[in-house]
Amino acid sequence: MTRPEVKDKKVTILGSQRSAMGAARLMSHFGAKVLLSEFDADKFAADKRQILADIDATFEFGYHSPDVLESDFIVVSPGIPENADIIKKIRAKDIPIYSEIEVTSWFIDAPIIAVTGSNGKTTTVNLIHHLLITAGYDSFLGGNVGIAASEVLLDSLNVKAKKPVFVLEVSSFQLDNIMSFKPQVAVILNLTPDHLDRYPSLDAYYESKLGMLKNLDSSSTAIINRDDPELTRRDIITDNTRFFAVSSMDGADAMLAEGVIGMMREGIWSSILPAKALPLPGQHNLSNALASVAAVMDFIESPEILAQGLMTFSPVPHRIEYVGKINGIHCYNDSKATNIASTEVAIQSFSQPMWLILGGKDKGGDFTSLISQLEGTTREILLVGSAAEIINTQIESTLTTRKVETIDKAIEHCISNGQPGDVLLLSPACASFDQFENFEVRGDHFRTLIQSHQGWSL
Ligand code: ADP
Repeated sequence: MTRPEVKDKKVTILGSQRSAMGAARLMSHFGAKVLLSEFDADKFAADKRQILADIDATFEFGYHSPDVLESDFIVVSPGIPENADIIKKIRAKDIPIYSEIEVTSWFIDAPIIAVTGSNGKTTTVNLIHHLLITAGYDSFLGGNVGIAASEVLLDSLNVKAKKPVFVLEVSSFQLDNIMSFKPQVAVILNLTPDHLDRYPSLDAYYESKLGMLKNLDSSSTAIINRDDPELTRRDIITDNTRFFAVSSMDGADAMLAEGVIGMMREGIWSSILPAKALPLPGQHNLSNALASVAAVMDFIESPEILAQGLMTFSPVPHRIEYVGKINGIHCYNDSKATNIASTEVAIQSFSQPMWLILGGKDKGGDFTSLISQLEGTTREILLVGSAAEIINTQIESTLTTRKVETIDKAIEHCISNGQPGDVLLLSPACASFDQFENFEVRGDHFRTLIQSHQGWSL
């Protein structure tokens, strides 16, 4: 599939968040006439005006003008749903719509390792990036991880890289509007329910994730989780598929053998590192580590270098991050757990009696699936935010719940009633937008409250 011409074309960027601003800069860099159109007037900020003025882009905040419908193509922000009015109008005029990851990939000459899945993406791309750097590659990390892929590409143009590799975290919303995006290595970590507020069905969401495989050919490799029931059920067929597994009976290319992480390459097994030496908690992180090993096997052959990379990786903040103890109660910030599956794995990472802070903005999931994980080990479920009532109705008959409104009150309640050796876990299973700007602000707030509390120590 040949990509459209960009130079001198009229390109509209819809939205003004991070990836939209990056796309505007990228399209302008390659000679397009850029219009950035943002429906929400509140999103307008002086720094955005400056960036857009610097690249000679036209921009509009608070409305979409008819000019949008005169574009040669559109770059849509992941936050804009398919059923938005403006998207319907654009589709009616048959103007192509692409995601930022799609247009960025047009200009990347280096290998791309892309990672998608419902949970574990950020941890895995960071680990892959770290493994590549350890092995001497010029790894460029971008996507949904703080810096947009387009920004990373623009930055890379100023660097003389000898061994460049792009490691990209890709969300389902980015995959909804790809055309020719073809990573050299495409990792699918898992498929579990999420974003039911955006997709008409679970299958539609899963299909969107699997879209990452649609352009793969014999020059690319799919990396698939053999432990994941949804992925194995689907019988994925690509020219080259490599599997990773913590517990599959069928074996895998990167797997655990007698407690040791290892890989199978060309029929030869290499041990890499005992699982207990991995500096990350939980079975789920073992799975992320195996996915990372499978993803970089063609780039890094030495088991020793892989072991060194795995051992020296620092956990990413907000993912079961230990933030200290108060009166002997160990506190963990897992604010990034914005869906039920990720909260489940966080709970499974602990055996101590637990106080769990759940709630925030509901995304339409079934909280009863948490009950079996929590029965027996949980002291109380502290419910916060706008989802408190919905969660309470689903779980109060079997678990001890308490509606405390805020994280601040949840901490106070736990500290007053907990015992040394207990765990206090913020793993909300919900988005943060009802009370916080994003999950990072929510996690930072939790960490600050804990670390400024009387009696806190590391
Ligand atoms: P993502 O970028 O996909 O949201 P993160 O690496 O940021 O994933 O992790 C978010 C949360 O998801 C973590 O705090 C953890 O609770 C959970 N998680 C991480 N890896 C996995 C996994 N492989 N399977 C299930 N849950 C996971």
